[in-house]
Amino acid sequence: AARTFHGLVRAAARDHGSAPALVEGDRRLTWAEVAAAVDRAAAGYAARGLTAGDRVAVQLPNGVDWVVAVVGALRAGLVVVPVNTAYTDPELTHLLTDSGARALVVAAERTDLAGVPVLVGPPDADGEPPADPDDPAALALLAYTSGTTGHPRGAMLTHRALLANQQQVLAVDPAPVRPGDVVLLALPLFHVYGLNGGLGLVAATASCGVVVRSFDPVATLELMAGEGVTAVPAAPPMYQAWLAAADAAGSDAALRRAFAAVHTASSGSAPLAPRVWTAMKDRAAVTVWEGYGLTEAAPVLATTLATGRAKPACIGAPLPGVELVLRDTAGGPEAGPDPGSRVREDVFGDPFGDDPPDSAGEVCVRGPNLFAGYWPDGADGPDDEGWMLTGDIAYRDAQGDLHLVDRRRDLVLVSGFNVYPLEVERVLESHPEVAEAAVIGLPDERTGESVRAFVVLEPGAEVDGETLRTFSRTSLARFKVPTTVHVVEALPHSLTGKVSRARLRELGLDRIA
Ligand code: ATP
Repeated sequence: AARTFHGLVRAAARDHGSAPALVEGDRRLTWAEVAAAVDRAAAGYAARGLTAGDRVAVQLPNGVDWVVAVVGALRAGLVVVPVNTAYTDPELTHLLTDSGARALVVAAERTDLAGVPVLVGPPDADGEPPADPDDPAALALLAYTSGTTGHPRGAMLTHRALLANQQQVLAVDPAPVRPGDVVLLALPLFHVYGLNGGLGLVAATASCGVVVRSFDPVATLELMAGEGVTAVPAAPPMYQAWLAAADAAGSDAALRRAFAAVHTASSGSAPLAPRVWTAMKDRAAVTVWEGYGLTEAAPVLATTLATGRAKPACIGAPLPGVELVLRDTAGGPEAGPDPGSRVREDVFGDPFGDDPPDSAGEVCVRGPNLFAGYWPDGADGPDDEGWMLTGDIAYRDAQGDLHLVDRRRDLVLVSGFNVYPLEVERVLESHPEVAEAAVIGLPDERTGESVRAFVVLEPGAEVDGETLRTFSRTSLARFKVPTTVHVVEALPHSLTGKVSRARLRELGLDRIA
C-alpha cells in the first residue's frame, strides 16, 4: 500500500495505468500519464536545485497543471504550500516569507516576490526523478488556514496524516468515493478539503477526477451530466449557486440531470442552510451528506455518512479512527484551552433549549489525521496525549448525532448569558425576505456585549431592520434578540463560503451600529 501522497499516484499508475485519471476540458489523462508527468516535474524541481524539505509555493488554478506541480513537488521530497488563487501580492508575500519558500509556481509570467524565484507552470525535465525517500512521517503540506481569524498560519500536515484521513473517509460504509467513480473536483484544490477530500480520495481509489477550473454553476451542471459524475464533494455556496441557477432557468431539469448518476453528494467547510439541504432533496432528489472538518485535521472529522442518517444542520458522527469528545470549556469566548476542564463524553441536548451552558461542549479530537502543529516549530499542535481543541462548539441530539453550534470565539456574552450567533442567524434567515444573516457581538456598557445582526435581503424585498427584530422576538429569548438589525447590500465571505465575522468588523460595518 502507498505510504505517501505521490505514492498513491504511483500505485494507481501501476495497477490501473490505462484507466482515466483526470479530465480538464479537452485534456484527458490516464493514471500512467499523470504518473509520468509527476516524475518529469519532480526531475524539473531537482534540476532547479530544490532538494528534500524545501518549501515550494503553488498558486495555480484548479487543473491538471495544479496536480502535476503539487504531486511532482511531493515526489521530489518538497513541502508544498498551496496558495489561494485569490490571494493578492501582500497576502502571498506573507506565505512566502513565513514558509521560507524556495520557489513559487504560478500560471503566467510575473516578477519575483520576496526574492523567491518564479516558475511558470509545473517544471518539466527529462531524466530520472530524485530518489524517493517514501517517508510517511515527512511533511507534505504547509496548509495555511484561510485566516477568517486573522493572520494565516501554516498547519504542518504529514503524508501520514493525509493518507490517514483518506482511509478514515473511505472506511465509512458505503464509502463516498469508490473505484470506478467519476468525481467532481470543483472545490478549490488549494484548500485541504479539495486537495485531500477531493483529489486525495480520487488518487486513493484510482477513480477519475473531473476538474473544474473556475466554478460556474450552469457550466458545471452541464459538465456533470456530460461526464456522468458519480460523486460530488462540495461546499454550501455551490449548492446555493446550483439552486439559484435552476431558479433563473425556471426549471430543475438541468439540476436533476447533473445529479442523476451521483451516489454521494457531500457538503462541508461551512454550515449548509437547512433550506438549501431541503431544496436539494425536494428539487434535485439529492440527499446532501454534511461533514465537518478543519484544515488541521486533513480535513474531515465527522459526517452524517458515518451514521447513515442525513438530516439538515447535522454533522453526524466522528469518522472511524477519529475520537471526538465534547469538552466543557465554557467560560466565554475569551477563555483559553483549559487542560483541567472536565471531559464530558456524553453531552446531550439542544443548547438552544432550556439549559445552554450544560448541553454543548467544545469539540475535542484525537486521531492519526491531525496536524503536527503550526510551522515552523509545531506550536499549538495536539497535546501530549494527542488531543486537540477545535474551537468549535457542538451538541448531541436525542439520537446521539452531532450538531455544530458555533465557534467558541464567536459566542456573544450578554449579561453573562451565551448567545450563539448561528441560532440568531437561522431565525433571521427563516424570514422569507431574508437571504442571509450574520451576527456578531459588540461591546456594550450595560450588558458587556450586545447582539448585532446584519442581513442581506432577497431581491426586491423591502422589509426593514426593526420589523426583523420584532420578528426574531417570537422565537428568541429576550437576551438573544439583536439590539439592532442592519440591512446591508452584501456580507463578506471566505472562499469556502463562510461569512467572515472577523471581516465584518474590519470592514467597519460595526461602526454603523
Ligand atoms: P480559520 O480557521 O483560520 O478561521 P478557516 O475557517 O478557513 O480559517 P478551515 O480549516 O477552512 O479554516 O475551516 C474550519 C472551520 O470551518 C471549522 O473549525 C468550523 O468552524 C467550520 N466548519 C467546517 N465544517 C463545517 C460545517 N459542516 N458546518 C459548520 N461549520 C463548519
